[in-house]
Amino acid sequence: MVPRRVLILGGTGEARRLAEALAGEPALDITLSLAGRTAHPRAQAAKVRTGGFGGAAGLARYLRDEDIAILADATHPFAARMSQNAERAAVEAGVPLVKLERPPWQAVEGDRWVEAENVAHAAALLGETLRTVFLAIGRQELAPFRALPQHAYIIRSVDPIDPAEAPPNARFILERGPFDAAAERALFAENGVEIVIAKNSGGAATYGKIAAARALGLPVIMVRRPRPPAEDGVATVEAAAARIRHLAGLPVERGE
Ligand code: NAP
Repeated sequence: MVPRRVLILGGTGEARRLAEALAGEPALDITLSLAGRTAHPRAQAAKVRTGGFGGAAGLARYLRDEDIAILADATHPFAARMSQNAERAAVEAGVPLVKLERPPWQAVEGDRWVEAENVAHAAALLGETLRTVFLAIGRQELAPFRALPQHAYIIRSVDPIDPAEAPPNARFILERGPFDAAAERALFAENGVEIVIAKNSGGAATYGKIAAARALGLPVIMVRRPRPPAEDGVATVEAAAARIRHLAGLPVERGE
């Protein structure tokens, strides 16, 4: 039997785990797609292709040319363009789409969140008074903070940041998650962090900073997701794997 080809759009821990969950299935041939933003991505259980497809039309062409039977969108909840392209391309190429989307975090008692529409709004909410800000929003969206040089910033990222792209008074931390709450709490205390800016990514891997802020009574400017939740999405790697197996006509274990 010719294995059915599955394309996973990745760049997240979930995509990596989904590839792992399906890699041992001989009836499936898995390819994981990365945007190519990270210089040294983690090792993956499946073969990897890297770089954009050239919009929705380019992805639709890829799906047809590569004979992809199932497309899985396991990109980050803030990778809105890729998710939109995946929806369009799946329709155009007539390929079923499995959307894996972790639920957003919800504020609990003790949280001091202020919600922001986007990163620029989060920067505007910082105000004029000098503060020490913990920024964990990735490398790509630092521009609004360059316009607020009065604050001190602790900026954490996976890849090095060009200081010219960052605000002047910044300290850089190069680290890849997961991050636990106790270590985050120590980091905030050591660096005198007064406020945290975070994207509402959801999931456990980066929740430590939110729990740490709560424990220390620090405010969090929480950036909302760019898209409403997918109504037909699944929330876990296990559910996505089960849906892919089902679409491929493979037995799905109970409880998956
Ligand atoms: P985006 O704005 O939605 O995508 C911009 C363009 O990058 C897409 O149109 C596509 O180019 C290309 N692209 C994105 N994801 C791709 C993938 N998995 N494989 C191939 N091409 C991809 O995405 P982004 O926010 O820049 O995120 C880029 C990557 O980083 C994604 O894989 C995402 O999962 C990961 N990531 C993002 C964040 C975040 O906060 N945004 C956080 C953690 C990880 P074409 O139109 O040419 O196909």
